[in-house]
Amino acid sequence: MIKDLSDLKLKIAKILDANKASYELGKVADYIPALAEVPSNLAGVAVATIDGDVVSAGNGGIPFSIQSISKVFGLVLAMNRLGDELWTRVHMEPSGQPFNSIIQLEWEKGIPRNPVINAGALLVSDVLASHYSASKLSFVNFLRQLAGDESIHIDSSVYESEMQHGSRNAALAYLMKSFGNIESPIPDVLSHYFTQCSVAMSCEQLAKSLLFLANKGINPTNNQTVCSRKDTHRVNAILSTSGMYDQSGEFAFSVGLPAKSGVGGGIVAIVPNYGVICAWSPPLNSFGNSVVAMKVVANIAEELGLSIY
Ligand code: GLN
Repeated sequence: MIKDLSDLKLKIAKILDANKASYELGKVADYIPALAEVPSNLAGVAVATIDGDVVSAGNGGIPFSIQSISKVFGLVLAMNRLGDELWTRVHMEPSGQPFNSIIQLEWEKGIPRNPVINAGALLVSDVLASHYSASKLSFVNFLRQLAGDESIHIDSSVYESEMQHGSRNAALAYLMKSFGNIESPIPDVLSHYFTQCSVAMSCEQLAKSLLFLANKGINPTNNQTVCSRKDTHRVNAILSTSGMYDQSGEFAFSVGLPAKSGVGGGIVAIVPNYGVICAWSPPLNSFGNSVVAMKVVANIAEELGLSIY
């Protein structure tokens, strides 16, 4: 039971204030106009606790493009659908390469290094497109159910831009298909993947929707089992080793929490048996991780002594 919510709210607001000027050290993702237009000085934070409480500060209630944070939800759905067969089609090793790298995919015969780099998330998108009759709708409904919020939606301008600038992701998907590791037609796989990336959610909604990963697979707000305890451990392990891309080692060293970032500037961090932290600020460092959100999550983890190691 986390008793003093007003104290927690004060602490996270203070940490956000102390770090938000660092947005000037980063650069907003500009590979699509819909992301390049987001004001760079927005910043928010939210903490959801396994008692189901949510506190936030700054712009913690403003929806933003979740981008690669969607890879966590897609992975859970694919694990539930395919069981252990999934791990014959994607590995669980850190890549040590940028998130959209293609180089290892050829060496490893079309099997992605892990499910939270682009190649792996495209593989997961194929599993979902092949195993659900309406995978995009199922995906959004899954998020609505987890967050208990029907207002969660797909940002159509982000989706359109992603489709127009999707050549590298298409290349990853076609290379996997050439090795026989993709079942569905590539346009279906890309359409599912870009739909996932284009969901808009706030820090508050994201923190709440991932509570099951801090609570042994059970969503504490409605007591529904989202995934098994074993799969919860596996997802958190993958997020610990690969969720921050090529900065995952540094993040484990300095913060010590399973986490996932997205190029929309969001970062979620899972605190087993405690809750979820989500921070957001659009400008990114060279690894594609939000400069301010990394500092905010790091400071909260340090102040509250949350490292899992
Ligand atoms: N839409 C982005 C892409 O596919 C997502 C990447 C990210 O958030 N790191 O390149």
